[in-house]
Amino acid sequence: MTETESSTDLEGTLAKLRAAFKKQGAPTHDQRIEQLTKLERALIAKKDELAEAIAADFGSRSKHESFIAEVFTTVGYIRYVKDHLREWMEPESAELSWLFAPSTAEILYQPIGVVGVIAPWNYPSQLVLVPLVSALAAGNRAMLKPSEVTPKTSAFLKTFLAALFDETQVAVVVGDVEVSKAFASLPFDHLFFTGSTRVGKDIMRAASANLVPVTLELGGKSPAIVGQGANIKEAADKIITGKLFNAGQTCIAPDYALVPKAALEEFIEAVKAATAKHYPSLANNPDYTSIVNDPHFDRLTGYLDEAKNSEARVIELNPANEKFEKEKRKFLPAIVVGAKEDSLVMTEEIFGPILPIVTYDTLDAAIAYVNDRPRPLSLYYFGHRRSDIDRVLNETIAGGVAINEVMLQFVQDSLPFGGVGASGFGNYHGRDGFVALSKKKPVYYQSRFGGGALLRPPYGKTFETLFRFVVGK
Ligand code: NAD
Repeated sequence: MTETESSTDLEGTLAKLRAAFKKQGAPTHDQRIEQLTKLERALIAKKDELAEAIAADFGSRSKHESFIAEVFTTVGYIRYVKDHLREWMEPESAELSWLFAPSTAEILYQPIGVVGVIAPWNYPSQLVLVPLVSALAAGNRAMLKPSEVTPKTSAFLKTFLAALFDETQVAVVVGDVEVSKAFASLPFDHLFFTGSTRVGKDIMRAASANLVPVTLELGGKSPAIVGQGANIKEAADKIITGKLFNAGQTCIAPDYALVPKAALEEFIEAVKAATAKHYPSLANNPDYTSIVNDPHFDRLTGYLDEAKNSEARVIELNPANEKFEKEKRKFLPAIVVGAKEDSLVMTEEIFGPILPIVTYDTLDAAIAYVNDRPRPLSLYYFGHRRSDIDRVLNETIAGGVAINEVMLQFVQDSLPFGGVGASGFGNYHGRDGFVALSKKKPVYYQSRFGGGALLRPPYGKTFETLFRFVVGK
């Protein structure tokens, strides 16, 4: 396959998928289970090859992180879907008003058709395969566009999926941003996009030409609030390990920490200690992932340079006092305290191992800080006082929340996952992925003994009496 594919090829690929869908219709429960099982087994069998492809793209990507974030998450979700699919596919009976008795109604879940999936590079297989699992579970065909930033993984996925599925069932398109743009403008039955908020707007614009419904799984700045009276050591440990997983290149990573003013120094010391405990060495640690490419490395360096040239305090996290070689793209993690509100670390999604700390005096101020900014994909709160937890839950809006933890909300198979506002819309994971990629079709069955005669003219006295009885005078 060449690096780029012309839009005619894309249209041809979509046409084949659509023709097969029209011809063969909805697969049965057993056929869907067979497809999912095939994917599950192959992913387990090829996990090492997959981890190697991702590592080759990143320069260095922890194999353990790949096993957790690419294999475990996908296999776990496939198993969850397989356990629930029969129940999800059942028509749902609907409750009707007595006025329409004895008619009945039900809701059917019908495959929508061909689903397009555009994925980012940071978890380059999971963010292709988990949407694919939902698409297949719902009985659809899928056309996938993995990221050009991770070409080895994209090539792996193309070969991997071609060995499992006919190209009229699942097709993988590789290529650059121009291919992605052409892909986004195809008349899919649903377009599932994971990526940045900026590109999300282009996707929605492109999809609007054909009225293609979209799911936008976007990014942004997810705050971690360390509550008054929280266990500072525990909060610091979880926030920094969440930040350093995949070197911070995670959409749901805690982007910045809100810390009570009085606890600032204790929190900084706890972050340093936790870094040393989990990463005694960083520069050559195979479990500390590299930054994906030079432009991203330079972007992060720029964020820190700006902070260093301001009044902000930059604290490097370098437990073994190592030298970091730029060629390896391992980024020396850092805390930034007191960055200006209009600085890069406070305005851009960080997507790297830099942790800005913002201090606050009262929970009101911390909540207001979050609410004054775009609605985040995730929000984390540390503290055990129930009244404070309730205030944070009730008074902020976020895609998802974890209390006294970071990121683990994402791997709970039963929980829906999706952003709100600038962090996106639509959900997947749990049953929501199946529902999002199905047509929820309501069907009304008139009884042979009913007829809704009163709703048709001529409207006589019985209608008026019944109207007064039902609606009131
Ligand atoms: P990106 O938006 O630059 O690219 C994502 C995909 O969109 C790529 O496949 C790319 O080829 C394609 N693309 C780029 N420009 C396009 C255009 N104009 N039209 C159509 N397609 C286009 O994002 P990225 O840098 O790959 O990933 C990082 C971003 O993704 C971060 O913002 C992160 O928070 C977000 N993200 C979100 C989630 C989530 O589940 N919400 C998960 C992972 C990453």
